[in-house]
Amino acid sequence: MTSSSAPIDLRSDTVTRPTAAMRSAMLAAPVGDDVFGDDPSVNALQERIAGMLGFEAALFVPTGTQSNLCAILSHCQRGEEYIVGQQAHCYRWEGGGAAVFGSVQPQPLDHESDGTMALAAIEAAIKPDDAHFARTRLLALENTLGGKLLPFAYVEQATALARSKGLARHLDGARLFNAATAQAAQQGGDVRAEARRIAACFDSVSVCFSKGLGAPVGSALCGSREFIARAHRIRKMAGGGMRQAGVLAAAASYALEHHIDRLAEDHELARRLADGLAGVPGLRVEAPQTNLLFVDLEGDARHRSAELLAHLKQQGVLATGLYRLRFATHLDVDAKGIDQAIGAIRSFFRA
Ligand SMILES: *Cc1c(COP(=O)(O)O)cnc(C)c1O
Repeated sequence: MTSSSAPIDLRSDTVTRPTAAMRSAMLAAPVGDDVFGDDPSVNALQERIAGMLGFEAALFVPTGTQSNLCAILSHCQRGEEYIVGQQAHCYRWEGGGAAVFGSVQPQPLDHESDGTMALAAIEAAIKPDDAHFARTRLLALENTLGGKLLPFAYVEQATALARSKGLARHLDGARLFNAATAQAAQQGGDVRAEARRIAACFDSVSVCFSKGLGAPVGSALCGSREFIARAHRIRKMAGGGMRQAGVLAAAASYALEHHIDRLAEDHELARRLADGLAGVPGLRVEAPQTNLLFVDLEGDARHRSAELLAHLKQQGVLATGLYRLRFATHLDVDAKGIDQAIGAIRSFFRA
């Protein structure tokens, strides 16, 4: 719920605050020292997410960034490489961690407009076994990517191609449940079944609890027992061995129980925002597929994004615009807040 004085914060789906019920679950969580494997709430979360996505094991980590780092360094050794999209979080937005900490080289590829990387480009990027080249070890996909659902047929094809070439497959599924929600809506399926169907194409999957699912902290990396044992060692090395982390794991378990089915509401609100901005001259609104809406300023308005963001802030609406304006819907915004945002944006253009 948004109170009239609190800003409508559309900067990210990470800005949510734990609900009262989630805080109660955190308060009640049994805990122990997770470095000793003693925290029952962490263990329960790891079993739960692994089971939900059809993996043998999972590892609770503080952030999605650390989850991807543990995954890449568990799949690849020094001098090896991973194929990844130019816009992928685990290439572009993680400070080059795999290269910095693991001496693992990224091989970035351009995206098509739907967020995919052309299969022919992936195949061409796989290096022959030759002393000149880094050894190509891994294909990393992201779903959703920039709010876009990767077509499921593509996920199947790209991961089958990688497998046929002997590459491991990692999914950065920070927003996997948003992807599953969109896919279920498209195909008339069940959200959890769709999440499992996507996950089944991969050797490892990372999921964020701290985005649309509304937990304060945490991600999980899922994979085989043997893979998770390797990732566990890297998590320790990265400083991610937490102690009584059960208070955080309890929030994540609560989110898995109560916040998956409501993601459809976030998607609906992103559409409401897009519809409300239709026809504003100077704005190109990309039809949202999930909870992220991207808007480009065009023509005379092209260089006015900083001015627009400042205007919105004054009106009590927060958004970001590093490259394009982005509006994220989440648990802490409602239709009233979205309508207020539409009014504030329209008032800037007097439209
Ligand atoms: C946010 C995000 C991450 C990283 O999560 P942090 O918890 O912020 O480190 C990784 N991948 C994707 C796709 C993300 O959106």
